[in-house]
Amino acid sequence: MTKAVDTRRQYAFEDKVLSGIPSINKQLAQSTLQRLINRVCKTIAYEYQPPVVVFGPGVRHGKQMLSWCNGPIIELAPGQRDKLTIYHELAHAIGHEDHDDEFRSCLFGLLYLFEGINCQTMWTGV
Ligand SMILES: [Zn+2]
Repeated sequence: MTKAVDTRRQYAFEDKVLSGIPSINKQLAQSTLQRLINRVCKTIAYEYQPPVVVFGPGVRHGKQMLSWCNGPIIELAPGQRDKLTIYHELAHAIGHEDHDDEFRSCLFGLLYLFEGINCQTMWTGV
């Protein structure tokens, strides 16, 4: 699959399926999200410094402003200051640049390990 198709499919899955799970979409304080990042990185024995979360405008993607991660920093756009976005950006930080199968299995692993959410069965329906 091409990168663009992977990305479209990933965003659609998050928008249509994962957005329906309140526990990972609740907007949280920066300090709460930082603690989550630190806990995840410690648990999975992430070999670098845990990324620092900042609240900012995000980057433009079409008409939307999106959160991003460059490794050491995760910037969360308005309306995306939630656990789902943290796990998504952490999957990038861990080393999965594109929204490919490896990215998805990393993200699904984090959601299962830390939230008890099994995405595998939901994904097949997309
Ligand atoms: Zn992404």
